[in-house]
Amino acid sequence: MNSSNTPIRNIVIVGGGTAGWMTAAAFAKALGGGYSIRLIESDEIGIIGVGEASIPNLTEYNRALGIDEDEFLRATRGSFKMGIEFVNWGAVGERYIHGFGKIGGGDAGLPFYHFWLRAAQLGQAHPLGDYSINTVAPREAKFMRARHDMPGSPLAEIAHAYHFDAGLYAKFLRGFAEQRGVKRLEGKVQQVLQREGDGFITAVVMESGEKVEGDFFIDCSGMRGLLLQQALKVGYEDWSQWLPCDRAIAVPCDSVTPLLPMTRSTAHAAGWQWRIPLQHRIGNGHVYSSRYMDKEAAESLLMNNLDGQATAAPRHLSFRTGRTKTFWDRNCVAVGLSSGFLEPLESTSIHLIHMAVARILDFFPRHGFEPADIAEYNALTSVEFEKIRDFLILHYKLTRRDDSPFWNYCRTMEIPDGLQRKLELFAANGRTYRDGLELFTEVSWLQVMVGQGLMPRGHHPYADQASEAELLAHVENVRQVVAKCAAAMPGHADFIAKHCAAQQA
Ligand code: FAD
Repeated sequence: MNSSNTPIRNIVIVGGGTAGWMTAAAFAKALGGGYSIRLIESDEIGIIGVGEASIPNLTEYNRALGIDEDEFLRATRGSFKMGIEFVNWGAVGERYIHGFGKIGGGDAGLPFYHFWLRAAQLGQAHPLGDYSINTVAPREAKFMRARHDMPGSPLAEIAHAYHFDAGLYAKFLRGFAEQRGVKRLEGKVQQVLQREGDGFITAVVMESGEKVEGDFFIDCSGMRGLLLQQALKVGYEDWSQWLPCDRAIAVPCDSVTPLLPMTRSTAHAAGWQWRIPLQHRIGNGHVYSSRYMDKEAAESLLMNNLDGQATAAPRHLSFRTGRTKTFWDRNCVAVGLSSGFLEPLESTSIHLIHMAVARILDFFPRHGFEPADIAEYNALTSVEFEKIRDFLILHYKLTRRDDSPFWNYCRTMEIPDGLQRKLELFAANGRTYRDGLELFTEVSWLQVMVGQGLMPRGHHPYADQASEAELLAHVENVRQVVAKCAAAMPGHADFIAKHCAAQQA
């Protein structure tokens, strides 16, 4: 066998946050016993410890690993998430929910929302959020899993994700990975050794002097970017002209009732505040732009807007929105915050970790590290990041707020061409299209665009085929069925108590 065809055997993962342990757990499950997988992390450095809200795709990651959902929620003191409520984004005093799942029912090829658009243009519709189980139920603190045995009912369409404790999640995955043979090495990496000539990484050297050699290195070192940024110097593409927040302050507080199955994002003068309800506490944070607000003002805004008593001191974090210029270089791939950060507005970072891990397994290399494979990996990942970036920019751009310099900047900033095209397309006849690798569906774009006040001038002409009376009866029937189904659902807190309550701390 040609040496470039020999299989990789030795995998070294640097970093043990959510990225490191998600990678280790998935590799251990997918690759089986023929590989040595070692993970290096430093208790002294610790993990970033935020990143507690997910999107539904994480259920697929858990399923692929064979992780039982109730066990996972008990271990991470997690709760369910049906969407995100946005408060004060379009204008102060407005709110809407971006729910997972569908709006209305299937309508012979034409999405329901075109019927709703026609009804709304006639002045005869309720708010869009009244037509989806994923937006009505969380308002009432109701939750249950989808009833796939009830096709045609909104109850069959329920989509969910999770809120969970980030520290407990890493611990949970660590247990899973170690049981399947992953070896954890404690300590700090101090030096990265590269091969003469081509610069491939050959080993990392720990503070203790121990040299950890490997064939394939996964950089999960967080924002430090130890391998790809610091050693291989691939460079960073800065997106802060579109996503101007660059600081966050995180603080937990006591729980309050009801336990809402949704994240809340409340816009403030120079950013926004998250609220993530777990079983035992609420995670809160203020994401803001240091160009428009200082840290003292940002902290007091957060501390004055908590629902319960703070249970720890606030933690300040800095970041730069953007991504590494390449995600995979030579024999090293960045996963997690070491590959970039798009800010937490739509809880997409953990999803990007999941996608990176799945894609690395798809493009799993041999010693030759085929450049065509690496180029394709980088191209696909770039598109994925850019599509998410545009969806996030949409929230900032589509505001009518003019009450602070921050919102004036966001409202008037230049945006990427692809996003501009999407806005124009929607503004005409309410059409949205999902490009190949795009994470967010048409329904996601619709909810944010309508939620922030962009109502199209028209709708699809097929929606004109029914008479006005038929159309309005149909739209109203959908609303009533959704309302009835939501009313029949159990409370979120009761559902958790029955299925997945964590033990008291
Ligand atoms: P980290 O958790 O920072 O882990 C890095 C690891 O590398 C640690 O184990 C550390 O010890 C190790 N390490 C670093 N240097 C060395 C060294 N020299 N030697 C040895 N080990 C080293 N994502 C979501 O999906 N949803 C959210 O709601 C969300 N909210 C967020 C809010 C904020 C404010 C921020 C900043 C991020 C948020 N994210 C969110 C992103 C999410 O936190 C991360 O994607 C996720 O936690 C993964 O982080 P990580 O593992 O890449 O990095």
